[in-house]
Amino acid sequence: MCGIVGYVGPRDAVPVLLEGLHRLEYRGYDSAGIAVEDAGGGGVRVAKTAGRVADLRRAVPDDMAGATGIAHTRWATHGEPSDRNAHPHVDAAGRIAIVHNGVFENSDRLRAQLVADGVALASDTDSEVLAHLVARSTGETLEDAVREALAQVEGTYGVIVMDAERPGELVAARRGSPVVLGVGEQEMLVASDVAALVRYTQQVIYLDDDEIATVTADGYRTSTMGARATSTTRSPTSIDAASAEYELGDHPDFMYKEMREQPDAVDRCLRGRLDHRFSSARLDGVGLTPQDYQRIRRVKLLGCGSAYYAGQLGAQLIEELARIPADAEPASEFRYRNPVVDPDTLYVVLSQSGETLDTLAAVQELKRKGGHVIGVVNAVGSTIARECGHGLFLHAGPEVSVAATKSFTTMGVALAMLALDLGRVRDLSITEGRRLVGGLSQLPDQIARILAAEDEIAEIARKYADARHMFFVGRVRAWPAAREGAQKLKEISYVHAEAYQASELKHGPLALINPEMPTVVLVPDDELLTKNTGTIEEIKARGGPVIAVTDAELPAGLATDVIRVPKAHEALSPITLSVPLQLFAYHLAHALGRDVDRPRNLAKSVTVE
Ligand code: GLU
Repeated sequence: MCGIVGYVGPRDAVPVLLEGLHRLEYRGYDSAGIAVEDAGGGGVRVAKTAGRVADLRRAVPDDMAGATGIAHTRWATHGEPSDRNAHPHVDAAGRIAIVHNGVFENSDRLRAQLVADGVALASDTDSEVLAHLVARSTGETLEDAVREALAQVEGTYGVIVMDAERPGELVAARRGSPVVLGVGEQEMLVASDVAALVRYTQQVIYLDDDEIATVTADGYRTSTMGARATSTTRSPTSIDAASAEYELGDHPDFMYKEMREQPDAVDRCLRGRLDHRFSSARLDGVGLTPQDYQRIRRVKLLGCGSAYYAGQLGAQLIEELARIPADAEPASEFRYRNPVVDPDTLYVVLSQSGETLDTLAAVQELKRKGGHVIGVVNAVGSTIARECGHGLFLHAGPEVSVAATKSFTTMGVALAMLALDLGRVRDLSITEGRRLVGGLSQLPDQIARILAAEDEIAEIARKYADARHMFFVGRVRAWPAAREGAQKLKEISYVHAEAYQASELKHGPLALINPEMPTVVLVPDDELLTKNTGTIEEIKARGGPVIAVTDAELPAGLATDVIRVPKAHEALSPITLSVPLQLFAYHLAHALGRDVDRPRNLAKSVTVE
């Protein structure tokens, strides 16, 4: 959440920073701003505005230029989105400029102290205090001053600071929020994620928590933040992301692009991991031997939002295929309930970005208590991936759209492979293993066929665009997919959607069924088929429209509308059934004129609590 970017080098920083912000906009888009060391020697110049990066482009004066600068796209936590609350923030003399991602939890107290000392605050944010604290610091270097200032704040941060009196230098530091340095030819960049850098360099350094860096055009030095600073020797690693992966191309928006990429993404996720000889999966990254697998008594999956629902889907797969008790829990709740961490449990954390703060905190809690934790993560090099050390990368390619699509699908696939691997070490027969390997191999093609039916799904979605509320129901395997379907609709269309276990409808929510309340019913072709057709009958009997999403043959006229998907292996049907729900939400949102890539109040990569 929130994007920060900094540049120092021979070019004019303004276009580089604006381009960087554009790439980071999915992380926050309520306001944006830029500060540069004025090429004309006029100190720090700032342009900022409420609104999008496009609004900032218009607000930047034509003559604004400089070789060093910082910029920010905001997702407000403290203070409404407004011009004055947009970052960068500067000290009273206009010398120090800062951008901040995260939350300073003791900002009220720090603000009060500054006001008592006669400092006039110019915004309502928690972040602004840092500019004043750096300006008032007695540190000899900018790095010392930032170090001293950050010692006074509590909370989380990824920050970049510049000082008009020390041209050509940036200081960046992190605690909890990601910061990555980009090493170019006689130029350096700093950013929240590599999306902002890939156009300029493929050589990056991911800062660790409590690490601080001083960056100039011809180099960088890093050290620890503690009272006794020790320098850390960090050499750049190469990223393999091409800048084209962050481009929209001919697609109308990133959500559309990423839905369309799913057959390839799933193919990449599976590649080299299916063991046809032993009818299992080869998951070297997990770092566990068959003996370790045998010792696992439980599996606990943790994630937030769609990653939590993917975790639920995975728990179901693990119980079904490996017969190991498994359950999923929101990572955001985990650490606050003083969890019992058990040495015989395998903890699996899920995060697309690998930066989700709540999930990272769960990993740290688990590690502190001696839990064995692996990550299922998309972003290589991300904090959670590094913190876990072991796990599975999704290989889905960058996901920019706030609404998860290919990351959800590939998480399902990765967890199905984990379940298969765990199962084959236990009681899952070679025949069943072979059937599942076959089912997994078919997924890319099946998903491609679902995407090819987009027009029909879009037509059904538009038919329901007037609905103010909707139910999504599914039983057992299909329940997590129903939750994800409801989530998708809520976040991008703002239509109120509730997910229920189909069997729970009659225990209460059925009271809400009427002709204005459509219900999406997920009907896998499995042993619960007749139970699900029974649910459809119950809804119909009460006048509720039903959209059945199914890979079974349903009696004609049973549901009001039917979305058919290819028949998947029954354990994998939640994955295929969830794809049309993305298209449904997408087209319904478009019918309502929503900006699907920038849904209200949300942002991607939730790096604040
Ligand atoms: N807490 C800061 C603010 O509200 C930064 C939020 C962000 O990470 O975008 O301005």
